[in-house]
Amino acid sequence: MVQENEEVHVLMVTLAAQGNINPMIMLAKVLLSKGIHVTLATTEASRKRLLNSSASSITNTATNSKFYWEFYSDGLSDDFDRVNNIEVGVKSIFTYSPPSVSNIIKKLSDVRKFSYVIYNPFVPWAFDVAVEHNIPCAMLWIQPCALYAMYYHFYNDLSPFPTMENPDIPIELPGLPVLCMDDMPSFIHPSAPFPLCKTLLTSMIKNLDKVKWVLGNSFYDLEKDVIDAIDQLHPITPVGPLVPPIILGKEESVKGNADMWNADDSCLEWLDKKSNMSVIYISFGSLSVFSAEQMENIALALKKTNRPFLWVVKPPENPTADGKGELPKGFIEDTKQQGLVVTWCSQAKVLSHPSIACFMSHCGWNSLLEAVTLGVPVIALPQWTDQPANAKMLIHVFKMGIKLRQEANGIISKDEVERCILEITEGPMAKEFKKNATHWKDAARKAVACGGSSDKNLDLFISDIRGFSPKSL
Ligand code: UDP
Repeated sequence: MVQENEEVHVLMVTLAAQGNINPMIMLAKVLLSKGIHVTLATTEASRKRLLNSSASSITNTATNSKFYWEFYSDGLSDDFDRVNNIEVGVKSIFTYSPPSVSNIIKKLSDVRKFSYVIYNPFVPWAFDVAVEHNIPCAMLWIQPCALYAMYYHFYNDLSPFPTMENPDIPIELPGLPVLCMDDMPSFIHPSAPFPLCKTLLTSMIKNLDKVKWVLGNSFYDLEKDVIDAIDQLHPITPVGPLVPPIILGKEESVKGNADMWNADDSCLEWLDKKSNMSVIYISFGSLSVFSAEQMENIALALKKTNRPFLWVVKPPENPTADGKGELPKGFIEDTKQQGLVVTWCSQAKVLSHPSIACFMSHCGWNSLLEAVTLGVPVIALPQWTDQPANAKMLIHVFKMGIKLRQEANGIISKDEVERCILEITEGPMAKEFKKNATHWKDAARKAVACGGSSDKNLDLFISDIRGFSPKSL
C-alpha cells in the first residue's frame, strides 16, 4: 500500500497517432487532477512535433502532480512513412520498442517508481514490459466497447464471422445489432491486408486475463447492452467520455493538449459570424486521405447546397501526383463567401460552437465521441479500422446520424453527399437525430459528473492505483 504523502507515479504508453494520444492525454489529465504524477511515453519520431506544440506545456493548476514526456524508439527513422507502411512499422515496433520502454523504466527508477502502467490496445507489448518490472497494468480501450466485444468474440472464436468463402454470414453478438461483413473492423475483415495487425490484436487479447483493468473510453448508458453482455466474458469498465473538458462544459484545471499540428483559431471568429446551427463541419481526422475524385464530389455537393461549411483539409504528408487528399483547383476562391477551409482546428472548440449544425466525419472514435458528447448529428464516411463499426453504432444504437452510400467503385457521388446534408439538416428525421444527440449529450455529462457512472469507475481505479483497494480479476 502507498503511504500517505508518498508520490504516486503512473507510466502511460501509446503510439503517437493523434487518435491514440488524445484519449491517453485526457486520462492523464484526470489522474493529474487527482494528484497522481503521469509520465507519457510515445515514439521518438513524434518528439519534435509534440514538443513544438502546446503538448510541451501540459501544466496542472489543480494539484502539485506533474506531467512528463518520455520518448521510445520504434527502430525507424523519423521520416519513415509509417501510415503507408503499416506492416513494416508494426514489425519494427514489436522488436525495438519493448526494450526501449524497459530502459526508460530502469533509467527513471531512482526518481520515479511507477505504481501502474496504462497502455492502449495498439501497444500490447507494453504489458510484457510492465510484467518484466513487476508493475500492475491497465489497458485503456480507445474504441467503442462494441469493438472490444467484437474483437473478443473474434479472437476467442466464440461466434461465426464472415469469411471470403461465406461473406454473407451475419455477425450476431450479444448486446449488438446484427452486423455484416462491411461493418467489420478492417483488421479482422476477411480481406484484411494487414496480417501483422492481426498478430498485434491477438497478443492484445491474449494478455487480457492478466491486466487488472480494461478501461473503456465510453460511458455506460451509451453502450449498456454490449457492456452488460461482455461483462460475463471479460468486463470492460467505462470511464469516459475522455474528451477535452470544454466539450463537457467544464473548466480545465490541467492545461495543454497533444495536437501535433497547429490549430487555425481564425475559424472560431468566422463561426461567431454564422447563425446558430447553420454550419456543416467536415473533418476526416488525422490519417484518412481521400482520392481527388472523392474530394471533388464533396466539394461540388457543398457548393450546390450553398450552406456555410468549415472543412479541415490537412495537407497530405506524402503528396501524390494524382492529387490525393487535395481540393479541386479554385474551390477555396470560388467558395470564399460560403465556407472556410483550414488545415487543422481546435475541433473541441469548433464542435462546441453553437453555429455548428452537423459533422461530416470519418467516424474515428474520438471524433464520434466528441460529437456524441456535444449532441451534434453526424454524416458518416467511414474508411477503415474501427470506423465502419463505429458508423454502425452511430446509426443503429445512438440513432443520431446517417451514412453516405458508396457506388460500386467505392466512391460517394456528389448527389449522395448533397442528399445526406439535406437529410440531416432538414429531412423528416432531422429533428429526431438532434433529439437523440441531445439525449446523449445529457447522458455523457451525467456519467462524468460527481457520482456518475464513469466518475465512480474512475474513483475505483484511482483507489487501486493508490493501493488502497487492490482489485482482483
Ligand atoms: N482533431 C482536431 N483538429 C482537427 C481534426 C481532428 O483537434 O482539425 C482531433 C479530434 O478532435 C480527435 C482527433 O483529432 O480528437 C482525431 O481522432 P479520431 O479518433 O477522430 O481520428 P483519427 O485521427 O485517429 O483517424
